[in-house]
Amino acid sequence: GDAKAAEIKAVSIGKTFGAFHALKNLSLDIGRGEFLTLLGPSGSGKTTFLMILAGFTAPTTGRLVMDGKDITDVPAEDRSYGMVFQGYALFPHLTVEQNIAFPLKVRGRSSADVKRKVGEMVERVGLIGHEKKLPAKLSGGQQQRVALARALVFEPSVLLLDEPFSALDKNLREMMQQEVKRLHQETGTTFVFVTHDQSEALALSSRVAIFNHGELLQVGKPQDVYERPSNRFVAEFLGEIN
Ligand code: ADP
Repeated sequence: GDAKAAEIKAVSIGKTFGAFHALKNLSLDIGRGEFLTLLGPSGSGKTTFLMILAGFTAPTTGRLVMDGKDITDVPAEDRSYGMVFQGYALFPHLTVEQNIAFPLKVRGRSSADVKRKVGEMVERVGLIGHEKKLPAKLSGGQQQRVALARALVFEPSVLLLDEPFSALDKNLREMMQQEVKRLHQETGTTFVFVTHDQSEALALSSRVAIFNHGELLQVGKPQDVYERPSNRFVAEFLGEIN
């Protein structure tokens, strides 16, 4: 439910790698339970920003505030964000249900609790009948469903998704986009989704944040950004929709 969704404020975030400025003084408010997509060309700083949200990368400057609390120095494991990546990162030697159970076991949940939660997630992502299979026996879409179930099973307050579907073919990608949209509506959790695909961003998001060269150019509802781009780059970038 909505109680689990977090609100995040990124305040003047900067990130340098040596002399290179990957993020430049970026401020962004992420609303409770929204579906925010970070959209921009390759190398624009989207993943760097996501890694800073997750706590895997420390910002060079700026602060992160979650639900009113400064979390800039809170380590990744204590932020308990769910994460889904393009490469699934499933445990190959664990079955579907063991993969999904993993975050609960790490958190020391009782076996009754684990069984119930895993059963719920297996049903929610449409994997009934596949519980005992190893990831290698699943299709790409099914593997991505396992990754989604594993990321959501412990009811994280934020789900971070980094180009999760870019390796899938067009039909499967569209199916998984609908799946993610449904999971967002059902869980009420805050989703932050990274993509370089304009049509994917416009189809999924409550708001999009347009990145280019480490700068945040515009944030708004998809239709507003599309109809009233803030500058020529945004207009041309969104114009590439096929
Ligand atoms: P995007 O996700 O938009 O494709 P990234 O955030 O991955 O962009 O990268 C932004 C820029 O920062 C790129 O030019 C990339 O090469 C650089 N970068 C990212 N991580 C590192 C790193 N660990 N060391 C040096 N440069 C990096």
